[in-house]
Amino acid sequence: MTIAKIPLVAVLGSPVAHSKSPFLHGYWLEKYNISGYYLPIDISSDNLEKALKTMPHMGFVGANVTLPHKEKVLSIADNISDRAALIGAANTLVFQPDGKIYADNTDGYGFIENIRQHAPQWRASEGPALVLGAGGAARAVVSALIEAGVQEVLVANRTRSRAEQIQSDFGARVNVIEWVKAAEEIPFANTLVNTTSLGMIGKPKLNLSLTGLKSATLVTDLVYTPLETDLLCKAREVGCAVVDGLGMLIHQAVPGFERWFGHKPIVDQKVRDILIS
Ligand code: NAP
Repeated sequence: MTIAKIPLVAVLGSPVAHSKSPFLHGYWLEKYNISGYYLPIDISSDNLEKALKTMPHMGFVGANVTLPHKEKVLSIADNISDRAALIGAANTLVFQPDGKIYADNTDGYGFIENIRQHAPQWRASEGPALVLGAGGAARAVVSALIEAGVQEVLVANRTRSRAEQIQSDFGARVNVIEWVKAAEEIPFANTLVNTTSLGMIGKPKLNLSLTGLKSATLVTDLVYTPLETDLLCKAREVGCAVVDGLGMLIHQAVPGFERWFGHKPIVDQKVRDILIS
């Protein structure tokens, strides 16, 4: 009798101790009665390549990559999905049987699936999207909004050149607006997304006037600590549909889990409760 190898997966980052991914994948492994392990590995940028080249030979079938390695991993991977290449970062790796590394980015998928689950009435094409921020997460969000059918994406970022880089990479549907003028676009937005770290516990507040915000606008925040940010709280008072960032974190994990462990997990209230607790 041959005993199958137990698949191993890790999240690689530094620091990584705060990561919710081991709880998430651990919960799904137990729920679906799958033999496998998902481990947090704290690794420096200098050792990333050596580790990634070794892991497939140690029983690892894949990995998540988090800060600060999401960009660097593209220079190590053997194959890169089109969307990871366009975004310029990967978060999900699949190790092929010959040890080759395939890199994908599932943040945009997680972003859209989260909205579809919690605001199913949302229609991407009904008006412009206003995206605050132009970091790595914003690139995944802009890519996903365009793919979902948003005709115009306005990007406002403190450092204008990063927003301009998004416009240059993603094309004519993206327009850059001044960070200090973002509030002027709020009355016209069908979708408002905060992709900055502002509003997160321990970070400065997001000081944005919501004057003129329509109740028909969908408002979503990538920050999930706190779960209900000031932005979401104020938008809820106006009557907007609001979607928090925790669902994005959970949904972005679905494609990886399915590829590594062979089962598509369901995103339900229980898994949210596990991560909140
Ligand atoms: P990043 O690449 O470091 O970008 C940070 C963004 O925040 C940039 O646009 C930056 O503007 C802006 N920012 C930071 N401090 C600011 C300040 N004082 N004033 C104005 N703007 C400021 O980080 P990231 O990877 O894009 O992540 C951004 C946020 O999204 C983080 O809170 C992260 O936890 C969250 N996130 C959530 C999920 C999820 O699943 N929910 C997934 C990915 C990321 P500058 O360019 O001017 O510095």
